[in-house]
Amino acid sequence: MTTTPFPRGTILGYPRIGRRRELKRAVEARWAGRTDAVDLEVTAGALRRETVQRLVALGLDPDDGSVPGSFSYYDQVLDVVALLGAVPDRFRDLLDADDGSLDLDGYFTVARGRGEDAPLEMTKWFDTNYHYLVPEISETTPISFADHRIVREYAEAKEAGVTTRPVLVGPVTFLALSKAADDAGADFHPLDRLDDVVAAYAELLRVLAAVGAPWVQLDEPVLVSDTVDADPARIDAAITSAYRTLSTDLSPAAADDGLDVTPERPRILVATPFGGLATDGTDGTPARDGLALLAGTDVDAIAIDLVKGAVPTEAVPGLASKTLVAGVVDGHNIWRTDLTARLETLDALAGLGAGALAVGTSTSLLHVPHDVEDETWEGPAAERAGRTPELRRWLAFADQKVGEVTVLARALAYGPDTVRSELDAASAALADRAAASGVVVPAVRERLAALSAQDRGRGAHDERVAAQRERLDLPLLPTTTIGSFPQTPEIRRARSAWAKGELADDAYTAAMREEIARVVALQEDIGLDVLVHGEPERNDMVQYFAELLDGFATTDLGWVQSYGSRCVRPPILWGDVTRSAPMTVEWTRYAASLTSKPVKGMLTGPVTILAWSFVRDDQPLADTADQVALALRDEVSDLEAAGTAVVQVDEPALRELLPLRRADQPAYLEWSVGAFRLATAGAAASTQVHTHLCYSEFGEVIGAIDGLDADVTSIEAARSRMEVVPELHAAGYARGVGPGVYDIHSPRVPSQHEVTELLELAVKSIDPAVVWVNPDCGLKTRGYAEVEPSLRNLVAAAQAVRTTL
Ligand code: GLN
Ligand code: ZN
Repeated sequence: MTTTPFPRGTILGYPRIGRRRELKRAVEARWAGRTDAVDLEVTAGALRRETVQRLVALGLDPDDGSVPGSFSYYDQVLDVVALLGAVPDRFRDLLDADDGSLDLDGYFTVARGRGEDAPLEMTKWFDTNYHYLVPEISETTPISFADHRIVREYAEAKEAGVTTRPVLVGPVTFLALSKAADDAGADFHPLDRLDDVVAAYAELLRVLAAVGAPWVQLDEPVLVSDTVDADPARIDAAITSAYRTLSTDLSPAAADDGLDVTPERPRILVATPFGGLATDGTDGTPARDGLALLAGTDVDAIAIDLVKGAVPTEAVPGLASKTLVAGVVDGHNIWRTDLTARLETLDALAGLGAGALAVGTSTSLLHVPHDVEDETWEGPAAERAGRTPELRRWLAFADQKVGEVTVLARALAYGPDTVRSELDAASAALADRAAASGVVVPAVRERLAALSAQDRGRGAHDERVAAQRERLDLPLLPTTTIGSFPQTPEIRRARSAWAKGELADDAYTAAMREEIARVVALQEDIGLDVLVHGEPERNDMVQYFAELLDGFATTDLGWVQSYGSRCVRPPILWGDVTRSAPMTVEWTRYAASLTSKPVKGMLTGPVTILAWSFVRDDQPLADTADQVALALRDEVSDLEAAGTAVVQVDEPALRELLPLRRADQPAYLEWSVGAFRLATAGAAASTQVHTHLCYSEFGEVIGAIDGLDADVTSIEAARSRMEVVPELHAAGYARGVGPGVYDIHSPRVPSQHEVTELLELAVKSIDPAVVWVNPDCGLKTRGYAEVEPSLRNLVAAAQAVRTTL
């Protein structure tokens, strides 16, 4: 028996940006210099107190560590950088001379950069749309227990009457996600510093024990992924070593034995969100089992993801002394839980031989909005957004999920009969959802069932090339852009006035047309070859389509943190997808009427629409993707009928959804590429299909790019100096390719000379006949003062290089 048993129900983390994005506003006010650091701490402190008290009101126990302490001012990985004082050389001056800590302003400087000092790079957190900052570690990076924020926050909550469970990224995941700093030796891997990091965590645990924290949570999602840049065997060895040290060397057993000593550490929960812990080795990589690995250490509890991961069935040696926290409530999607089914899952875990069982979420609730109750579900605005009282009953945002956890925990402790009405209400809502009109649209199902391989195939590529050459008559090295032009304050104002009903439809249309005319005239003046309409009418490349397609709803307040203070509102894809009317044709047609040059139609691809939405969980993603693809296919066909000769279907998220386990990747690439082809393969041979991918590190998706069968693919390439072009060539890619020659992520204007150099690099490593000239990505975040000279230089460079070919 332990003195502090693990809570019966908990969540792995909670949104921290605030129900009304209070933290975003407070942080941005500090950045703008409108407030001082103390103001920010006061606002954030109030928000933290409100959060823990709300979690208690929702049913989590205030005394046993059920309530996670998962606050962050910016990012949980950056928090560990600050905890350790592990900043790269260029920020070393920000560390306190005495204790090596980083104050709040210094913390933001590392996140956002200053002058010539680039911020830490940002990249995607496992399979979510959350982005973390990538630590840079070398042999000489300072690593100690430098920052005590997490201890202060524990004490602050305690004072407010709540005993929290501090949550932080675990030492192995932290180092596995780090990159070697520039000053590191050639053979250095951040995991070489494991012992130093573990020693600092051990210090932290001692201090947390001293202030009375019963539990701490260390997140180790590295265990569910094969795609981090470290040898799996090394990760496993690091886990064993780190947790042996943290759990054994600091054992609280003496306190359990009734001796009057302060334990040297809190009990440790290791959480492994985002997937299953076992791989069977069928993909050729060695079989691994993270659960057995953790069970072999002296940690006190292990949280597993039973939404993404399979339910383990065999007894695990070592688990008898531990609590298994069963992640049965989905932390990463917004559907109401099938509580009865999840109780059965909990029953099935009995055979694992765990010492105790607790109920948890599969991941932190960071990835879902706060509260269904905050949103309006009735009235004209709700109706326009597709939000109905019916839909509301099917959903569970963070607060509702906390409620679900407590219901399941009560069922576990006192039997299902004690929560019968909650179980029945959940089942009834699910039954309603299954039978609701729009969830299954027979015409959509029939159309999908009738598809054959032919619907995903266009004619031979060389015949298409010939037909398009004749129709488009483009010069060598044709120039174009990726679609959007700067979203000016005037455009944003007009759109928001229109959304609020303050601007009439025809006035709004007129304003957008005026903008389109301006953008077309500018492109003609600059001398671009394939023009765009500029996308002024799009609030967002996914939300725009979600608002127009049936089967989606959008929210006003469903904010989810994307990175730092940036939040997004993913649409909710709840039903079969249909298109009741053309979505983009009128804008494109209008632009085309103003010029004799070709104007590209611009669509967002099916995989990206899925990746940036909350997607229904009642059918395979592949089927949902195909439904979206069919709607887009009809749009392509309407664009063609309006005379459009070039259509671009953007898929920047193709790589994002790539499964974390290698064994799952081929099936994913099969359906995702298949959906793109379904969206585009209806196009005539003489219609040129473009796609755009936002990145240049293709890795395991390089083969899939050819599989998309697009005529032209534009990619990011300026920063990596065209590195990807020879790679594509080596992989046998022979279609059109537009390696970005203008880095739009920076306000810098590239000179004609620079662009020329990049283009020369490109035509040296691939047939010049397939090369296109374009920026890295859309221009919506830039200003005209940079965009116009940059595009002029781009066109001049293309003209110069043409004369040399
Ligand atoms: N067509 C979109 C634009 O130009 C593409 C954006 C993206 O790839 N993220 O804005
Ligand atoms: Zn892009």
